[in-house]
Amino acid sequence: MKGEWEKRWQAHQHVRAYFTCAPPPHKSHIDAHSDREKALSSIVVQMKTGKIGLDSYLHGIRPEEAPSDRCRGYLTDRETVCHVLLDCVACRAQRRRYWKDGILNGLREIFTDAGKTITAARLILSLALLNQYIRTNRRTLSAPEGEQDQQ
Ligand SMILES: [Zn+2]
Repeated sequence: MKGEWEKRWQAHQHVRAYFTCAPPPHKSHIDAHSDREKALSSIVVQMKTGKIGLDSYLHGIRPEEAPSDRCRGYLTDRETVCHVLLDCVACRAQRRRYWKDGILNGLREIFTDAGKTITAARLILSLALLNQYIRTNRRTLSAPEGEQDQQ
């Protein structure tokens, strides 16, 4: 009886549609996944140390590259991890997509919760403020086939 049910279930439209849309992962997907994990864990370290490609830090070490330490959104506040993750008005829409449970009370709340820490890293990555990853993405995504490794 269970076998019959399973046959009917597998023939069901939704199931077929699902398998059509979600093929098993290929090696390239796995590589992309692990690259992403590496990028995220390096961003976690950068967020915690504050040594991160945001202008508050870059301005201090390379003022010729980052002439201002102000947020690129509205130029009012310093572009810090705290500002971007919690306060920045320019990032508000994006932030709402990531902090679904609502208002956070501060960096301590983010960094004492592994899930929130990773969400924060994803959010920062998604905002494309970190130049090293903008370059990486550009290279990976927009270079012509076969030229990705030559740059
Ligand atoms: Zn801002």
